[in-house]
Amino acid sequence: MDFYPVAIEKLIEEFAKLPGIGYKTAQRLTLHVLNLPKDEVEEFAKALMRARGTIKYCSVCGNFTDTDPCSICANPNRDKSLICVVEQPKDIMTMERVREYNGLYHVLHGTISPMAGRGPDDIKLKELIRRINGDIKEVIVATNPNVEGEATAMYISKILKPLGVKVTRIAHGVPVGGDLEYADEVTLAKALEGRKEI
Ligand code: ZN
Repeated sequence: MDFYPVAIEKLIEEFAKLPGIGYKTAQRLTLHVLNLPKDEVEEFAKALMRARGTIKYCSVCGNFTDTDPCSICANPNRDKSLICVVEQPKDIMTMERVREYNGLYHVLHGTISPMAGRGPDDIKLKELIRRINGDIKEVIVATNPNVEGEATAMYISKILKPLGVKVTRIAHGVPVGGDLEYADEVTLAKALEGRKEI
């Protein structure tokens, strides 16, 4: 396509690589950027570089952080006897929005999926097992309520129970087949409240 100068085509291409962005949206974003004042574009570019350059994973829980351990792991007011297990760092933000939970987290960075050829070694499960000690009273599994999330929850329960820790699963106020991200706060608070031992 040569409707646009190369620099514009390149920017459209880069935007189109982002999740959920098709060519048309990429085009719209690009034209928007071209109409912004130059200093605003510079701020945007700097924010991208800074986020990518300074953010790493917490060595304890796997959350995004610029300090290690992260602010949640390092917070003395957090209940250190509870670990909520989630699939991705974005799920921590979702759970935090609920404000009913004051324990710690563990990010698996994926799910177990025999169909996709992903086993227990492909997610941060060993790291979770290493965190289980006498101080941990309960592990709440908040993986997404779909086939992979359920399989992962069952596996975690099987592995952790012999270690003498209570394993619970958030209740299904969250729609089955859904994504934690799209559950509203009330639904998620209820799901947390109604969690069951697995
Ligand atoms: Zn952490």
